[in-house]
Amino acid sequence: MEYALITGASRGIGKATAIALAKAGYPVLLNYLSNKAAAEEVLQMIENEGGKAELLPFDISDKKQIEIALDGWKSAHSNDFISVLVNNAGIREDALMVFMEENQWTNVLNTNLYSFFYVTKAVLQTMVTKRKGRIINVVSLSGLKGLPGQVNYSAAKAGIIGATKALAQEVAARKITVNAVAPGFIATDMTKDLDIDNLKKQIPANRFGTAEEVAALITFLASESASYITGEVISINGGLYT
Ligand code: NAP
Repeated sequence: MEYALITGASRGIGKATAIALAKAGYPVLLNYLSNKAAAEEVLQMIENEGGKAELLPFDISDKKQIEIALDGWKSAHSNDFISVLVNNAGIREDALMVFMEENQWTNVLNTNLYSFFYVTKAVLQTMVTKRKGRIINVVSLSGLKGLPGQVNYSAAKAGIIGATKALAQEVAARKITVNAVAPGFIATDMTKDLDIDNLKKQIPANRFGTAEEVAALITFLASESASYITGEVISINGGLYT
């Protein structure tokens, strides 16, 4: 069977993506960091709709934890493989550069950029062997235009955009596509502390996007219909200038 692994599937965009991919017929692997109750709720929602899901917790910034979790999964699933990887989990630790502590830089780079290398590396070899795969990286408007207060986050997301374009060319002949989705402001836990009323005035659509709208785009990129799209960064931002 072909599985879809979604990092950060307990909440927000990852949760909506897991539900959408399960509806599209994929058995889904729900990764999360620590919020087991939320991940179990997602699993239950998927099973209630007749879908198939498994929890796969690990810290995406910890190479060892990723190896243990994915090696364990592979040995329990010798006839299955992960054909869709959604690198979604991410954090922000905003501060102006003059006030930014080194740990704010390293935390955000480790979780948002190094994780791409660790998790993708752990599933790529099998995709190459099977000559099939979809890798979808959730980046951000910040990675395209840079946002003040987010030098760390913008650097990490811009790094993934470069990696997306390079990896897409490496693996295109193996029928693996690699794309990035760049949301603007989406209503999730990550943005709940922002001044929504003020920020939405800057958005031509005059509202924050929903996690479900981002999930629909990711699900399209994961589909057979998107076979000829690779190395792209697709914005989903209600018209915010990029
Ligand atoms: P969110 O609601 O804060 O959810 C974050 C998810 O990531 C949770 O499932 C969390 O797990 C998981 N996570 C965090 N650190 C992790 C780690 N070290 N290992 C494994 N899982 C981890 O975030 P969101 O708004 O849905 O954002 C998802 C992605 O979209 C991120 O990459 C973010 O940068 C990007 N994005 C979001 C927006 C926006 O406006 N929301 C805009 C642009 C880009 P736990 O529940 O266990 O903590």
